[in-house]
Amino acid sequence: MFSRILIANRGEIALRIIRAARELDIETVCVYSEADADGPWLELADEKVCIGPGPATESYLRIDRIISAAEISNADAIHPGYGFLAENAHFAEVCRDCHIEFIGPSPEAMALLGDKLSCRRMAKEAKTPIFPGSTKPIEEAAAAIKLAEKIGYPVIVKAVAGGGGRGMRIVHSEAELATAIASAAQEAAAAFGNGAVYIEKFLPNARHVEIQVLGDKHGNAIHLFERDCTTQRRHQKLIEEAPAPNIDPKKRDAVAKSAADLIRKANYAGAATVEFLMDDDHKFYMLEVNTRIQVEHPITEMITGIDLVKEMIRIAAGEPLSYKQKDVKLRGHAIECRINAEDPNKGFMPQPGLVGEFIIPGGPGVRVDSHVRSGYCIPPNYDSMIGKLIVHAPTREDAIVKMRGALSEMKISPIKTTIPLHQRIMHEPAFVNALYDIGYLERLLEKDALQATDSLVITEH
Ligand code: ADP
Repeated sequence: MFSRILIANRGEIALRIIRAARELDIETVCVYSEADADGPWLELADEKVCIGPGPATESYLRIDRIISAAEISNADAIHPGYGFLAENAHFAEVCRDCHIEFIGPSPEAMALLGDKLSCRRMAKEAKTPIFPGSTKPIEEAAAAIKLAEKIGYPVIVKAVAGGGGRGMRIVHSEAELATAIASAAQEAAAAFGNGAVYIEKFLPNARHVEIQVLGDKHGNAIHLFERDCTTQRRHQKLIEEAPAPNIDPKKRDAVAKSAADLIRKANYAGAATVEFLMDDDHKFYMLEVNTRIQVEHPITEMITGIDLVKEMIRIAAGEPLSYKQKDVKLRGHAIECRINAEDPNKGFMPQPGLVGEFIIPGGPGVRVDSHVRSGYCIPPNYDSMIGKLIVHAPTREDAIVKMRGALSEMKISPIKTTIPLHQRIMHEPAFVNALYDIGYLERLLEKDALQATDSLVITEH
């Protein structure tokens, strides 16, 4: 097992990794930027190393500085968390070249699953369901037109190297296709240095259901059931729950098994998430594979009792999976609300600054993963998520009631947060009855905007 790991991240996920490492009796080294010098999580690390100024491009994204920090602090492994360098195969390769274990997949497995087309080809072999569409990048518009006709409009043009929703265009008719391909390719080239694009069937009004999987270095792979992340705003997840409500368990079990088969085929060691869209008939279509720990991993931990971050560390150290598929049991229902320092009444404008009151809820089945405390100043440089509120209860109904109570206990001021919006969603019939699709929250917010006078729309319950 490792004796020291370096955490190439910040905030709540850095804290989460410190907690897992401590339970495994592993020391931690945190790198931090000048903007994070007062980060409360740094107090829990055994060592901290400043790696540059606030902008991530000068600190958390600087491979050279992170590797130097690992070398001077004698770290034998690096946990990348999520975001920043977590899905950068070059970083994983540099770690390997420097004999530092990357806590995640090999650069080869990461590249294979990170490229959306090679991932689609591998999924086909593993019988993981995918959208009808290309298996190769589009070379000429004529071939794309033929394929689009075959699969039927609407189709979506996507970047092979895609991420963050860039390089995507929804196309409703042949007349728009050639222009959409050209503009998506241009955007992809600028964003990823790779202009290759492909097309697949576009599915409107779907639900987002994803499967958590774990693989080890000995050829074992298991799934840990699913999460439903349908409550989104601008493709950003806001609320996640596990298991997915109103789902056909047979179809779910089949797709979960195929997700484990996919990562086994890719020789994948570590935690990954296979993301799907699910239609009204509970048919699944793979979107992509995320080759890292996800923000929403705690809800899977709550329903399975498995500590995903500890498992990732053990896997990287070469241990076989601690669980067989038959040991993974689903228990109860968990919901996570992302607490963002944003003002939902002002277009979700970020709210950096000093946190005054910070009162977190408690009680059975309530978990708060947050690096924030009263007196902490939220820097403007990074993501606005300041914590996650997670509840676990025997049924979905109980979990919703528990979440309502926990949200009403949670007090953060004077900065505005997403708490009042979550309180409202927990009473919204579309959420309460799980009659939702990816667009429902946007439609709700749009309706509010239309009805808004100059009074506040979202009020605390
Ligand atoms: P990225 O890697 O850029 O985030 P994804 O493949 O994960 O791209 O897709 C991002 C979002 O775009 C999805 O969550 C979904 O809302 C939408 N999307 C992508 N592909 C499709 C599709 N075939 N049909 C419907 N929506 C899609």
